[in-house]
Amino acid sequence: MASTEIQNIFAELGLTPPADVGEGGLVIKDPSNGQTLARLATHDEDAALAMVDKAQAAFKKLRNMPGPKRGELVRQMGEMLRTHKEGLSKLVCAEVGKGIEEARGEVQEMIDICDFATGLSRTLGGRTLMSERDGHRMMELWQPLGVVLCISAFNFPVAVWSWNAAIAFVCGDSVVWKPSPKAALCGIAVHELLKPVLEKAGHGDAMQLVLERDVKVAEALVDDARIPLVSATGSCAMGRKVYPRVASRLARCLLELGGNNAIIVDKTANLDLAAHAIAFGAAGTAGQRCTSTRRVFVEAAVADALMGKLEPAYRQLSERIGDPRDSANLIGPLIDEQAVAAFTSAVERAAAAGGDVRAGGKALEGDGNFVQPTLVRVPDGQPFPLMAEETFAPILYVQAFPDGGLDEAIASQNSVEQGLSSAIFTDSVRAVERFYSPDGSDCGIANVNLGTSGAEIGGAFGGEKETGGGREAGSDAWKSYMRRQTCTINGSDALPLAQGIKWE
Ligand code: NAD
Repeated sequence: MASTEIQNIFAELGLTPPADVGEGGLVIKDPSNGQTLARLATHDEDAALAMVDKAQAAFKKLRNMPGPKRGELVRQMGEMLRTHKEGLSKLVCAEVGKGIEEARGEVQEMIDICDFATGLSRTLGGRTLMSERDGHRMMELWQPLGVVLCISAFNFPVAVWSWNAAIAFVCGDSVVWKPSPKAALCGIAVHELLKPVLEKAGHGDAMQLVLERDVKVAEALVDDARIPLVSATGSCAMGRKVYPRVASRLARCLLELGGNNAIIVDKTANLDLAAHAIAFGAAGTAGQRCTSTRRVFVEAAVADALMGKLEPAYRQLSERIGDPRDSANLIGPLIDEQAVAAFTSAVERAAAAGGDVRAGGKALEGDGNFVQPTLVRVPDGQPFPLMAEETFAPILYVQAFPDGGLDEAIASQNSVEQGLSSAIFTDSVRAVERFYSPDGSDCGIANVNLGTSGAEIGGAFGGEKETGGGREAGSDAWKSYMRRQTCTINGSDALPLAQGIKWE
């Protein structure tokens, strides 16, 4: 049987808890105490490929449904999520250890994207264009694409699926979801909660869920020629494996990969604002967001003043580590023991390389994968190679840049392989313009006077370089989920050829 807590949460959601398959099942452990939450059945390759069959058949029906009617289904999904926001937030909190307040924010993001997609369903459309030929009209038609494979990471166990699925459904696509094996319960709950909305309308098979414990089944899906779009969220290492496989069959990949995000603070900045944003960005979600702040570059004139604000803030945060179910705690656990080991190793290497650990630095004794939010003051004026690594934990490196050296700070910010999120704190309009110039931030997200994490769904979300170049959620990210058709209609009695060619 699943743990009592999981049974209660599923009951609150109006769902039957998943069966316990005993030894050999996919084991889900509570990251805050190490207790087993569930032992789940997984799918083999045949079962996964059979789901693609079903998703493909469902796509053929869904693509002919008017867009606004598909939008209505997504609206109903949003309503279902509104009703069950608290239950689903509790599940996110229990399974991946996200603080309950942040878990509520994650489910709210699902609701928001459903609202966005509902509106979008009435506005999806292309342009009409001027034809060079007499009596001709040109236009762009956007057509549904097909089966979308959504591979998601553990740290946004429900929101990432919704960024993909809400948009894919209004575009007329079906979705096969392969969640992280570390967040399978969240996958099951979302699937069971929302699939009935599609089922009632006769489109239940447009939503499929594949659970697996290793990557073999996922790789079979990635290789499946019936899937025209693979949307994969996770580490750069995963992207490096998935991308060539999808490219080898000339299909589309939408990649949302790792980040190594920086905040620049110049001497004109409001340091209280900056310190607050830095602490939330670096320590929130225990540093397990793709957009977590990992590096700060501060102008030398205000470096000590900023550290004077960050150090006490970090000391306070260290007193607010604990069970993520208690909203008084601001720092929950890391996902598993390997993540704790990666944290400990990074802190040791930072100290060995001359970093001054000003706060935190320790994993907590006892049950659960808790670590202290850690602040490392890095020697100025020299490279510190560890800063180029994304350690998925609450470690923040702070380095000063010379007074007046904004260009140097921007170059340091851009010097890493990833290009997801970036921010500058400044009251100087010149610095803002510099940050937004073509030589400025090279990231997909660039903020002024707010932190690197916590994007709104209305914008297109994603990053450059090894973050993968994909864009999800708002703006025109929907274009990845459709195929564009350029259509020319001849309304005249003649057949003029393009480019004025005569062929008589
Ligand atoms: P991960 O790369 O270990 O796993 C992500 C997903 O990919 C999982 O579902 C996993 O099973 C699957 N996967 C792994 N190898 C695969 C393969 N060879 N073929 C097919 N599927 C494979 O990442 P994680 O530890 O779950 O998440 C943390 C990472 O995700 C961090 O690097 C973080 O920055 C990144 N992330 C990025 C975004 C973004 O939008 N850019 C959002 C969330 C997380």
